[in-house]
Amino acid sequence: MARKLAAGNWKMNGTGASLSELQSLASSALPDGVDVLICPPATLVARATDIAGPVAIGGQDCHAHASGAHTGDTSADMLKDAGATYVILGHSERRSDHGETDATVRAKTEAALAAGLIAVVCIGETLDEREAGLTLKIVGDQLAASLPDTATGATVVVAYEPVWAIGTGKVANLEQIGEVHDFLRAQLTDRFGAEGENVSLLYGGSVKPANAGEIFGVANVDGALVGGASLKAADFSPIIAAL
Ligand code: PGA
Repeated sequence: MARKLAAGNWKMNGTGASLSELQSLASSALPDGVDVLICPPATLVARATDIAGPVAIGGQDCHAHASGAHTGDTSADMLKDAGATYVILGHSERRSDHGETDATVRAKTEAALAAGLIAVVCIGETLDEREAGLTLKIVGDQLAASLPDTATGATVVVAYEPVWAIGTGKVANLEQIGEVHDFLRAQLTDRFGAEGENVSLLYGGSVKPANAGEIFGVANVDGALVGGASLKAADFSPIIAAL
C-alpha cells in the first residue's frame, strides 16, 4: 500500500520569517496515517528541521554528484546532513529553467537514494503535448527514464504535475487525473511488480483547500505536491486534513 503524503514546495519563496508558518503547521494536530513534507528553499533547510516536529523537511533539487567542483550546487549528502529526509527532483521548473532531462533526473534520483533521501520525482505534460494527444506517451516515457531500477515505495514518490496546471489556477479535471494516475500505477507495477503498488502517486498543479478533497477521492491519488497553497499554514492545513 502506498503511503499518503501531503508535500509542500515553497519554490524560491521564504526567508527566516516564513518559518513561523512551518512552526504553526508543526504544532497543529496532524492526521494519523498522513506524512507531511515541506520543501523550503535550500537556505532554510537546516533551520526548518530544527522546528519541524512531525513535519518532514526536503530539498527542491540536488546535484548528481556527492561533492566536487560544482559552484552553487547542493549535493544530496549535504541536504541529508542538514536534516532533510526528502528531495524534489525533476520539477518542470527545473526541467525548463535548467534544461534537466530525464537522464539528469535519473542520475540525481540515484544520488538521492545513495544518500538515504526519499526522491519525489516529478513528471508531466505541457499543454501542447496534451492537445496533441500525447499525454500518456510523455508521462510514460518520463517515468521510465527518470526512475532508477532500484526504486521502491520506501525510496521514491512520483508526482504527476501537468505543466499547464502549475501556478495557473487551472486544475486538471478528475477524469484527466484519474486516467494518468491509473496509467502510472500500471506502468509502475509492470516494471517493479508488487512493489509498484507501494510507490505514492501525488497530483500537483493548483491544488487548493477548495479542490483537494475531490482530487484525493480519485483512485491512485495518494496525495498532493502543493506550491502556492503550501506557503501559509492556514491554506496547507485543510489540504492535509482532506487527505
Ligand atoms: P502550484 O505548484 O500548487 O502553485 O500550482 C505546484 C508545484 O509546482 O509543485
